[in-house]
Amino acid sequence: MEPGTTIPILGKGYVRYIDHLGSDLRIVESARISYKSPSKGEDQDKKLLTYLYKHRHTSPFEQCSITYNIKMPIFIMRQFVRHRTFRLNEWSARYSELSEEFYVPAKWRAADVQNKQGSQDSASLDQAALTREVEAFHQTAYGTYQNLLQQGVARELARTVLPVSIFTEVYVNCDLHNLLHFLHLREDDHAQLEIREMAAAMRKIGEQLYPWTFEAYHKFRLGVTDKPKSA
Ligand SMILES: Cc1cc2nc3c(=O)[nH]c(=O)nc-3n(C[C@H](O)[C@H](O)[C@H](O)COP(=O)(O)OP(=O)(O)OC[C@H]3O[C@@H](n4cnc5c(N)ncnc54)[C@H](O)[C@@H]3O)c2cc1C
Repeated sequence: MEPGTTIPILGKGYVRYIDHLGSDLRIVESARISYKSPSKGEDQDKKLLTYLYKHRHTSPFEQCSITYNIKMPIFIMRQFVRHRTFRLNEWSARYSELSEEFYVPAKWRAADVQNKQGSQDSASLDQAALTREVEAFHQTAYGTYQNLLQQGVARELARTVLPVSIFTEVYVNCDLHNLLHFLHLREDDHAQLEIREMAAAMRKIGEQLYPWTFEAYHKFRLGVTDKPKSA
């Protein structure tokens, strides 16, 4: 995969591939060190990798990692940073001015009647009116931000008037084991639609880099707290 390959998400956001470490074979080689046994051909190697994933032999998957550059709204970033095993650096609104870029949903959703924290489509919402109202609010908020900066207020304080729909940017590196765990949680129906869109883009990049691993993931789809399957 070409470094810089970019998948657009959430309007003005993206998930960009920077680089990665290892391959499906690295996972197999790392596991085989236990016996100091060499590769036994592609079929056996793939079988072993699938076995490792299914039976929760997770550490060989930590030998691989991906670095992404991701642009996402701050309210999604707040969910993203809960994943403590990710190593990340974020664009600083103390060092530089944030751009006038806000997330506006393509479709406004109503509260879900079953899953109270979730959302569902609604025919009764006036989509155009909501978008107009929110875009006007974004303009006002960004205008106030600029006014504060022009009056000499420090960037670290001026930013306090900006809503969580504004975009931020990170460089993030995650090992494959914890990436799969993240995808398991954040591609789930219970996760917010916006982070699901971001997770799907991260997965699409992963699928190009580690095809056997993602085949096993799609087949068994395990989170870190799932019990190992008995051998
Ligand atoms: C649908 C959904 C709704 C959520 N709602 C809320 C919410 O309302 N409020 C809220 O605060 N959070 C919420 N979360 C966040 C959630 O509680 C977790 O913090 C988040 O999903 C990260 O999961 P994790 O700890 O397994 O992942 P990571 O932080 O990536 O950790 C991966 C694994 O490493 C281990 N680990 C990492 N750090 C530690 C540690 N310090 N101690 C022990 N083990 C560790 C654990 O086994 C963990 O599962 C929600 C998550 C989801 C998916």
